[in-house]
Amino acid sequence: MILPGQTIGILGGGQLGRMIAMAAAQLGYRCHVFAPEADSIAAEVCAAYTRADWHDADAMARFAAACDVVTFEFENVPVSALAALGDVPLYPGRKALEIGQDRLSEKRFIEELGGRPAPYAPVDSAADLAAAIAAIGAPGILKTRRDGYDGKGQWRIMQADDASALDLPATPLIYEGFVTFFAEFSVILCRGADGEVRFWDSAKNRHDSGILALSTVPAPADVLAQVPAARELAAKAAEALGYVGVLAIEFFATETGPVFNEMAPRVHNSGHWTTEGAVISQFENHVRAVCGLPLGDTRLAAKAVEMRNLIGDDAADVAGLLADPANHLHLYGKAEARPGRKMGHVTRLVLD
Ligand code: AMP
Repeated sequence: MILPGQTIGILGGGQLGRMIAMAAAQLGYRCHVFAPEADSIAAEVCAAYTRADWHDADAMARFAAACDVVTFEFENVPVSALAALGDVPLYPGRKALEIGQDRLSEKRFIEELGGRPAPYAPVDSAADLAAAIAAIGAPGILKTRRDGYDGKGQWRIMQADDASALDLPATPLIYEGFVTFFAEFSVILCRGADGEVRFWDSAKNRHDSGILALSTVPAPADVLAQVPAARELAAKAAEALGYVGVLAIEFFATETGPVFNEMAPRVHNSGHWTTEGAVISQFENHVRAVCGLPLGDTRLAAKAVEMRNLIGDDAADVAGLLADPANHLHLYGKAEARPGRKMGHVTRLVLD
């Protein structure tokens, strides 16, 4: 058990790390961020910051020596960099990170567990892409296997001809058939060090231009009907990985049941509503899990909750956002509001 006063290391320096660190601070922990960027919005709220390249093994080893446990907020931490952590415990483990950072590996992993992703094929050349489109059909989406987020590294292919116009990046890709869904939702669970699994209510998620725009809880009945099967799959995934911490899986709700979209081995944007909207948030339970403490109650703390992301300029009018006294405003402290950049979120609870 890692006790308050001890140090939690966080790999990655973004808003998820910031929110983990804030929950950890509430429980009396110190946090230490490791990240390559000059301005880490997580480090701003932490006791210590190691700014270094992921592959700087000496810096990673010094960081590990200063931490009692290490977690990550960013799933694209290079797996080869983890060796330098030595014996310090890492939760969720290396395998979850390795699978979660490659769209091909995560789809294969989910299929082995009996889950159903969109039809897919790995693509490493123009010939592979033509073969994939011939086999799976169009429309579809070509995605980079790694490093894509918020719709980045994705190309929609409406018909086979679109593929020939594409200048393929020199990186491993995956082609996915387009899924006809009536909603998107996520399953977020926390698995404790003792194997106990708790789920938060599943949010219905709306994405605009590939970026999460809105999460609402409770989800409507047609989505809720798909949650048990999705939870069963998520619990199997957590079990298979010996997972400790928060795991998020995004699904498409289709007429034939839930279709796996992607897995995030970390706290997730579609769980931000839990900070005010659940008895215990995803951030606090993640901290409790990686520290070996008992997990908290994940139940909804209001009749309904809505979380809206503030993207780009959405966050500019702070007074306007606070004019509604029911808004819980979260700003991530990012210096520059670029289009498509997540700057913060607003959570609203419906109490009666
Ligand atoms: P992703 O980064 O893979 O989660 O993609 C971002 C968003 O694009 C998803 O939340 C969906 O709204 C949409 N999308 C991604 N893949 C597919 C697919 N195979 N079929 C339909 N929509 C998709």
